Amino acid sequence: METSDIEGDLSSVLYTEDEILAKIASVARQVEIDYAGKDPLLVGVLKGAVMVMADFARELRIPATMDWMAVSSYGSGTKTSGVVRILKDLDADLHGRDVIIVEDIIDSGLTLSWLLDNLKGRGASSVEIFALLRKPEAATVHVDVKYAGFEIPNEFVVGYGLDFDERYRNLRAIGILAPHVYA
Ligand code: 5GP
Ligand code: MG
Ligand code: MG
Repeated sequence: METSDIEGDLSSVLYTEDEILAKIASVARQVEIDYAGKDPLLVGVLKGAVMVMADFARELRIPATMDWMAVSSYGSGTKTSGVVRILKDLDADLHGRDVIIVEDIIDSGLTLSWLLDNLKGRGASSVEIFALLRKPEAATVHVDVKYAGFEIPNEFVVGYGLDFDERYRNLRAIGILAPHVYA
């Protein structure tokens, strides 16, 4: 795997693209079993989940549809505000659908627990979560995540869709930003 220039802004790489894709493939194999004969609706949470959605959806060998939602919980910095606001709502009617929320990361859990309640209230048959990353030490509220990727330390990470001030989403790897970037 080639190293990109922006990767130089990381103090450490947590997961390479190959490691991320292997994890997504193993989650996809489980989802194929759990949703055999069904047609799940994958709900991606913009913008962080764009990369994981693209790779997860293409890895799935069962029919699936995609829809997107944008909510705000973080400002432009690294701290959660605790306030969830819908910036872009779904196009799909959730009635009778088997929904899988696709998320980049669970930190406090506030965004996902809010989203879970919100989508369950729209008549979906089932709502489950796939979160690529999870910070167990940061949890403020407990959220049942059926499909969890990697457990990571309580550090601010970027790459593979995750941003710092809208940057680094296009990094293939996931890593921890070097302190000089903040300064
Ligand atoms: P929560 O509501 O669980 O605290 O945070 C949810 C959202 O905050 C995530 O979907 C993500 O957009 C953002 N977030 C949480 N932790 C991180 C992190 O370490 N790095 C980045 N880039 N975003 C994060
Ligand atoms: Mg997110
Ligand atoms: Mg962000």
